[in-house]
Amino acid sequence: MYDVVIVGASFAGLTLAHHLPKNYRILLLDKKPSLDSPVETTGLITNPTKDEFSSFHGLCIERYINNSIHSLRIVNHGYRNVLSNSVQYPWIYSLNMNALIKHLSASLPSNVTLKLNAVYGSSNTYFHKDKQQNFKAKFIIGADGANSSVAKSNPNLSQNKKHLIGLEKVFHGEIDQKAIYHFWFGEFSLGYGGWLSPSGPNKFRVGLAKYNDGKGFETLNRFIDRLKKEGFINPKGEAIEQFGSHIPIGGPVKKPYDKNTLLIGDAAGLCGAFAADGIKGALISAKVAAKLIQKGSFKDYYKEIEKHNYLMSYFKRQKLYRFAWDQMKTNESFDILFDLVKDESLIEVFCDSKDKHKSLAGSLIKFKNARLLLRYAWSLSKKPKSAQPEYLKSCQKLFRI
Ligand SMILES: Cc1cc2nc3c(=O)[nH]c(=O)nc-3n(C[C@H](O)[C@H](O)[C@H](O)COP(=O)(O)OP(=O)(O)OC[C@H]3O[C@@H](n4cnc5c(N)ncnc54)[C@H](O)[C@@H]3O)c2cc1C
Repeated sequence: MYDVVIVGASFAGLTLAHHLPKNYRILLLDKKPSLDSPVETTGLITNPTKDEFSSFHGLCIERYINNSIHSLRIVNHGYRNVLSNSVQYPWIYSLNMNALIKHLSASLPSNVTLKLNAVYGSSNTYFHKDKQQNFKAKFIIGADGANSSVAKSNPNLSQNKKHLIGLEKVFHGEIDQKAIYHFWFGEFSLGYGGWLSPSGPNKFRVGLAKYNDGKGFETLNRFIDRLKKEGFINPKGEAIEQFGSHIPIGGPVKKPYDKNTLLIGDAAGLCGAFAADGIKGALISAKVAAKLIQKGSFKDYYKEIEKHNYLMSYFKRQKLYRFAWDQMKTNESFDILFDLVKDESLIEVFCDSKDKHKSLAGSLIKFKNARLLLRYAWSLSKKPKSAQPEYLKSCQKLFRI
């Protein structure tokens, strides 16, 4: 008999296990085979997210910072137009997540039993090294990511319905240690974008997030080839790590709890639907869960999360951005948006919006932008070239439209 069984030992599950009272009997399950298993994330966090780690007893988060990042560069389709925005202070950090998660797992308090190679099946069972085990628990917590088995096994809970797949490869090689790049692909591949991020001295990560069409790594490899050709990267040898994982983009789920089961982190959809940032949502929802478990009621779950600098409102705005991004079907829309944002301090306005609760739409809807905004709205009604009939494509070619 346990007080709490937590499924998933990543950001959300480990945070909860570290923040529950030390007299609770806790079982923490994860399907990964070892503490050295790679953590499937780029590991970029803002200052306020970094501060969230201060509540972990004895943890010095600075030890896990690979890079302090001062610049954001946006690259439009065609790879020629680059928008650069820098600030004096680091606005985002790239963390060594493999080392951090390993440390948080190894430093769990003695009241927590961590079982690896343990796959949660249906209610009150898991498979450890292929052997079925039963347990009893006052509370079951699903911290098992975007495709939560806990959510699937309980008809009272909602599941994430909309996902992107996030793919990444890590290479040895030099890039600017203080900048991250965000690539807009335009018609090359709609509905998603790519990134390039430093990952400690002489290492970098190339990733993309896309709707799953079964061609994930094929597209990532094409993107990497293009980055080489355009001179953004010069990798030394093959990738040293690679992974692909689901990102929930449908926003917070409708029913994240019942009487004694609760979903936290990605399992509850607490991830930016557009920015794909879920580390903060995982940490905050786990800390809120630690308090509500002691109260014995999850009724105020989302209300309590909102108290953390309006985090639920941020997730709502992110759904809107995702909707707008998904409407952009032509290179023209991307070009107009690029023109619209080029005079803005992107880091101030957009990238910190989670922490400063600012809205990108609010910053762009101004009288001086009226003409561009109208053109942008008009461009959204157009179809991508690939969806146009052949005769129209030939006419456009002939008249060079
Ligand atoms: C490519 C990529 C890049 C990203 N980059 C960033 C970023 O830079 N910044 C940011 O804030 N967010 C980023 N994210 C999102 C972020 O990684 C997630 O939001 C975050 O990891 C969610 O944490 P979590 O603990 O809720 O779930 P997860 O980290 O997904 O952990 C779930 C855990 O549950 C375990 N598990 C799953 N099913 C079972 C089962 N049946 N039984 C037992 N164990 C199970 C898994 O092994 C895993 O350890 C990225 C995501 C991807 C895919």
